[in-house]
Amino acid sequence: MIVIIDNGHGVNTAGKCSPDRQLLEYKWAREVGLLLQEQLKAHGIEAIRIVTEDKDISLKERCNRANALCNRYGTANCIFVSLHCNAAGADGRWKTAGGWCVYTSPRITKADALATCLWNAANTVLAPYAERFRVLQAKGAYDPKQVPFRADWSDGDPDYEAKFTVLTGTKCPAVLTESLFQDNKSDMEYLLSDEGKAAIAQLHVEGILNYIKSVAK
Ligand SMILES: [Zn+2]
Repeated sequence: MIVIIDNGHGVNTAGKCSPDRQLLEYKWAREVGLLLQEQLKAHGIEAIRIVTEDKDISLKERCNRANALCNRYGTANCIFVSLHCNAAGADGRWKTAGGWCVYTSPRITKADALATCLWNAANTVLAPYAERFRVLQAKGAYDPKQVPFRADWSDGDPDYEAKFTVLTGTKCPAVLTESLFQDNKSDMEYLLSDEGKAAIAQLHVEGILNYIKSVAK
């Protein structure tokens, strides 16, 4: 299995940062993408980052690069994972939303199984984050309605569905993860910590390994 890693945005993408600009989403996604690539390779899984440059490339070009790999290695042998962090607004102010979630394209595809594996891995690997979340929620860092693992169970699985170009325009099973909120100060601090980056890379590794095991059966 070839894991195609898409790290979102670029140095020239407007917005897409924490209100204090400590966290730049493109930079964070590249760091975590690199960690994920290294950790997958340590497990003997081939992982290819399709955006190694710092500048942003179009969503269509991201799909073209992913589909070229599907053509080379066989679509059935590829999965696509796009790394992002979420934001509750675009007004440059801190917000009280938080948590981790995963998106697939609408209708049931193999991506739903991959997303469920990732969601389950998030619940396990990010358990320390969830504990921290509950403590900080009691202090007002998160709105009372917020949960550490966000899910849309309306169609029977935990992923959210959206017609994002990188999800609908890629040939292989494709998911996009939104790892916590860059405009929540508590989430941002976790995202920027070594512990946080390692845990988020690790949850992707475990989810991907579990998915590969499930399709190999
Ligand atoms: Zn993003």
